Amino acid sequence: MDDLKFGTRDKRGNWAPTKPAGTAPLFVWPPQPRKLLAWLPHYIFPYNMLFFLSALAWWHWIVPPTEVMQTFAWGWVLRLLAVNAVAVFLWYGAFELQLYVRRTQDNRFKYNGKFPAEQPSDVFWFRSQNLDNILRSFLSGVPIWTATQVIVLWAYANGYAAWLGWADNWLWLAVLTLLVPVIHEFHFFCIHRLIHTPWLYKHVHSVHHNSVNPSPWSSLSMHPVEHALYFATMFYHLVLPSNPIIALYQLHLAGFGAVPGHVGFDKVEITDETAIESHAYIHYLHHKYFEVNYGDGLIPIDRWLGTFHDGSKDADERMKARYRAKKERLAARKTAARPAE
Ligand SMILES: [Zn+2]
Ligand SMILES: [Zn+2]
Repeated sequence: MDDLKFGTRDKRGNWAPTKPAGTAPLFVWPPQPRKLLAWLPHYIFPYNMLFFLSALAWWHWIVPPTEVMQTFAWGWVLRLLAVNAVAVFLWYGAFELQLYVRRTQDNRFKYNGKFPAEQPSDVFWFRSQNLDNILRSFLSGVPIWTATQVIVLWAYANGYAAWLGWADNWLWLAVLTLLVPVIHEFHFFCIHRLIHTPWLYKHVHSVHHNSVNPSPWSSLSMHPVEHALYFATMFYHLVLPSNPIIALYQLHLAGFGAVPGHVGFDKVEITDETAIESHAYIHYLHHKYFEVNYGDGLIPIDRWLGTFHDGSKDADERMKARYRAKKERLAARKTAARPAE
């Protein structure tokens, strides 16, 4: 596909879409029913549907019977860990293999002109972004993902959570299923904004931001504290009247859903004519500029707080003005704190 029909490439080889990034027409006033209807299929297909189906598959084929989950035992816990690890390897690996190893679409639609393999850096273990990202994903990412899953399933099995049946509560459960990405967005925004506070950023979140040029394996390249906060989104289903399948969907949306946002390409080409949108631009800009786009735009919190960046020149100017104002505020505070001479 000709990516220059959809965007421009600068001297350094960085590609940017012509169309600025947008937020979903979900929480807008006045409501925009037409836009909402046109947007709805993108909300469901392909990613959210895929993660919901994966939750169903886990429930039917991987998750053990309720009686087994009533007590913690290495057998079922390790089995879940192994399946999660294999699934992450296959799902993340598929994007990596296609786009970064075989480079089937070269740098078409690629935001950053360079590939991480060409940029060794001391910030990474073994100076390799890929190796560092892969190790962090498997050493703490998948184990903490599994631990969260085990705790929630164990709680359901022991009756510590309100487990609703589909037959009697289908309407509420259908609404809740549709709201899973909204819960994810709300939770992600809150914890993400929290770990951007100076102390937590320095000690926790900077690990994830080492990947300024993110690739699929960057998705779960986090400090263990961030992993724990990130996957805690599944705990909402211990508080809300819900169902373990929806809880699993919430977890899979976080775990598998992190990849599209870090894929580094605006579109993933399927054939010469067709491509799937990655919806990665908003989060790519977060990795590039740090203090913009704490959320992914499903709930426009960044717009409300003035931290939204859509990739345009105007947004760039607004961001720079915000940085200048912040610098001046900090300088004024320093002067005020100085003892009088
Ligand atoms: Zn961040
Ligand atoms: Zn990220």
